[in-house]
Amino acid sequence: MICDNFDDIYEIVSQARKYTKDGKVADYIPALGEADPNNLAVAMFDGNGTCLSAGNVEETFTLQSVSKVLSLALALLDNGAEKVFTRVGMEPTGDPFNSIAKLESLKPSKPLNPMINAGALAVTNMIAGAGTEDKLGRLLEFIHDLTGNTSITYNEKVATSEFETADLNRALCYFMRQHGGIDGGVEELMDLYTKQCAIEMDCEDLSKIGYVLANEGVDPVSQREIIPLHIARIVKTFMVTCGMYNASGEFAIRVGIPAKSGVSGGILGAVPHKLGIGIYGPALDEKGNSIAGMKLLETLSSRFDLSMF
Ligand code: GLN
Repeated sequence: MICDNFDDIYEIVSQARKYTKDGKVADYIPALGEADPNNLAVAMFDGNGTCLSAGNVEETFTLQSVSKVLSLALALLDNGAEKVFTRVGMEPTGDPFNSIAKLESLKPSKPLNPMINAGALAVTNMIAGAGTEDKLGRLLEFIHDLTGNTSITYNEKVATSEFETADLNRALCYFMRQHGGIDGGVEELMDLYTKQCAIEMDCEDLSKIGYVLANEGVDPVSQREIIPLHIARIVKTFMVTCGMYNASGEFAIRVGIPAKSGVSGGILGAVPHKLGIGIYGPALDEKGNSIAGMKLLETLSSRFDLSMF
C-alpha cells in the first residue's frame, strides 16, 4: 500500500474536516439539502484486497456528476468513440457545470465535453437499451462489475427530487434536441439521467471504481478487462481536463490526480497504476466541489507523492 498507516490518514481527515465549515451543502436538488455538512470520509484501494478508509465511511451518497464518468464509459462501449464525439466535444469550458451559454454561442451547437450537464445528457442519450429500465439496468450492471458490489442501486427519493426540479437540465435537452444533439423524449431522458445521478454507494465502492480506471480498465481480482484500455484513457483524460468543472486547471496543479466530483460531495480519484480513491464530503465550494474533499486530496497527493505530473 502506498500508505498503510491508518493514523496518518485519520489525522489527514481530521485536519481537512475543518474546511467543511467554509462550504455549503447543495440544495437546488431539495433532497441533497438534507446531508450533514460536517461529514467527511475517504477510502483508498490499491487492488490488493484491503481498502484503507477513515472518517464517516459508513455514509452512502448519490453519485450526481461522478456518474458522468460511468455513463461516458458505457456510451463509448456501446457506440464507439467516433460516434460519441459527433455529439459531444473534447474541450474544457471554463463555465459552470450547468451553463447553457456556449450551447447557443458555438456553431454548430454541440456541448463542449461530457463532464458538463449538457454533454452528459447527450451521452446518456446514447446508452443502448430498449427503454429507461433496460438502460439503467445496464449501467447498474456495469457498476456492479466495477465495484464487485451487486447491491448498488439508485436512491428513489433523490431521483424524484431532482426529476421534479430539473428545469434547467430540461432546457438544455430541449435546446439540444432542436439542434439534433439528442433523440427521443426529453422526459424519458430526464428520467434516466436523474436515476443515473441518484445511484448510491459509499466511498469504498467509489475507490474500487477509481482503481479499475487507474489499472487501465482491468479488474484487480479477476484480471478481467471491464473497460477497454482506450476507453479508460479517454475517461481519465476528461477527468484531468474537465472533472472538477471550472476548477480543473487549479486542481491539476495542486493535486495532479484524474478526478471527478459531484454536487452530493463525492469525488472519484484514479491515480494511474497505483490507487483508486473515493471521497465524500457534502459541504461544497462555490464551484460545486467538495471543499474539504479537495483539501484532503491535496494533502494526500503531496504526502504520498500522487501527482501524475
Ligand atoms: N444531477 C446533477 C445535475 O444535473 C449533477 C450535477 C453535478 O453533480 N454537478 O444538476
